[in-house]
Amino acid sequence: MKERVAVVGAGIVGLAHAWSAAERGHDVTVFERTSVASGASIRNFGMVWPIGQPTATRAIALLARQRWLTLTQESGIWANPYGSMHLAHRPDEWTVLQEYYELQRHSDLGPHLRLLSTEEAFERSPAINPTGFLGALACDLEVCVNPTETIRKIPSWLTDRYEVQFCFDTAVTEVGTGQLRTATGRSHSFDRIVICSGHDFESLYPEQFVELPLKKCKLQMLRTVSQPSSWKLGAHLASGLTLRHYESFRACSSLQLLVDRIAAETPELDHYGIHVMASHDNLGRVVLGDSHEYGDRIEPFDSLEIDQLILRELQKIICLPSWDLESRWHGIYAKYPSGVNVNLDPEPRVHICTGFGGAGMTMAFGVAENQWRLWTNTTAETVA
Ligand SMILES: Cc1cc2nc3c(=O)[nH]c(=O)nc-3n(C[C@H](O)[C@H](O)[C@H](O)COP(=O)(O)OP(=O)(O)OC[C@H]3O[C@@H](n4cnc5c(N)ncnc54)[C@H](O)[C@@H]3O)c2cc1C
Repeated sequence: MKERVAVVGAGIVGLAHAWSAAERGHDVTVFERTSVASGASIRNFGMVWPIGQPTATRAIALLARQRWLTLTQESGIWANPYGSMHLAHRPDEWTVLQEYYELQRHSDLGPHLRLLSTEEAFERSPAINPTGFLGALACDLEVCVNPTETIRKIPSWLTDRYEVQFCFDTAVTEVGTGQLRTATGRSHSFDRIVICSGHDFESLYPEQFVELPLKKCKLQMLRTVSQPSSWKLGAHLASGLTLRHYESFRACSSLQLLVDRIAAETPELDHYGIHVMASHDNLGRVVLGDSHEYGDRIEPFDSLEIDQLILRELQKIICLPSWDLESRWHGIYAKYPSGVNVNLDPEPRVHICTGFGGAGMTMAFGVAENQWRLWTNTTAETVA
């Protein structure tokens, strides 16, 4: 049965719900309080990153990845499925990568992984710093998108393709079963309302958020000027520091030695939650990051010390033709520590979907699709 569906928020999570609902033939309206999306979804690396997911949630990441490829092919929005490389510049990092490869080689991830010698890795990326380089773990699943461009183009595609309506500059101030109210006082009727308001826990159903262990996290990021056009990063690149950040690597017993070494050698990296990664967008710029500061430690001001630490660590692992910076910024996301994200139903046919932490670009298309399969008892086949 065709439903009138409202989605609150035009970040990646709201867009994912809007797309899954529209594909099922529903009448979809998206309400976004800013004039263009400006939240975490436009501020990230643009890394669709299945390798960061543990075995239990990898299927959702793979579904999401497939949907990214479908969307970018159908819409003509730029994406580069160039994969990833985790670089080892210290023996303990190389040990963890080797252990991870052994653990995963017979899993569904196995066919996508390769341990690379230094020579093989240099062939894939001219950016690797050769000093101390020991080898890399390559995965061919990761996809790069330009987050700002993509998140701001998807609304037009959804409108052209599925007649999804977008109400920008429209804050939703009240939601109840069958109805929502906007800041101008207008009420609208809907059969189903999905709230995807990112790290805003204060405006809609604040009492629901009080009970949850959700945290806000601030991340600092940098972006270089465009690199020479023939120069390619070759893959998303991640350092050994990243191994202590993504849950997938926690299955490795050798990880603790690396964690302990970093804590003893460079405690400032733990203090600011720094691990370093780089991605290369369609405008030739290299996006660099990042740090993690939680809860009460979040200040509106960006710290130059953090930027300098991020650059220091990146320069240990990569060499760029130009390190000149074009932009610096920070983003804030909501993180639910005990799962991929949080899905709540505060009232009948009212849903809240948030808390994706550092994996919203990777997981939202999969989570939203699964939610719509559940709510409407439809599978991908019955939709197609
Ligand atoms: C610096 C940084 C780097 C990251 N890197 C990656 C990465 O490479 N890969 C990855 O998978 N993930 C990454 N993430 C995580 C990812 O960006 C987030 O998980 C994701 O963007 C969260 O999406 P969202 O739609 O929940 O939130 P948002 O993008 O913040 O969107 C929420 C939207 O809701 C709107 N809104 C809120 N309340 C209302 C209301 N009452 N009425 C109307 N509109 C409202 C807001 O204006 C906003 O536009 C990164 C995050 C950051 C900050």
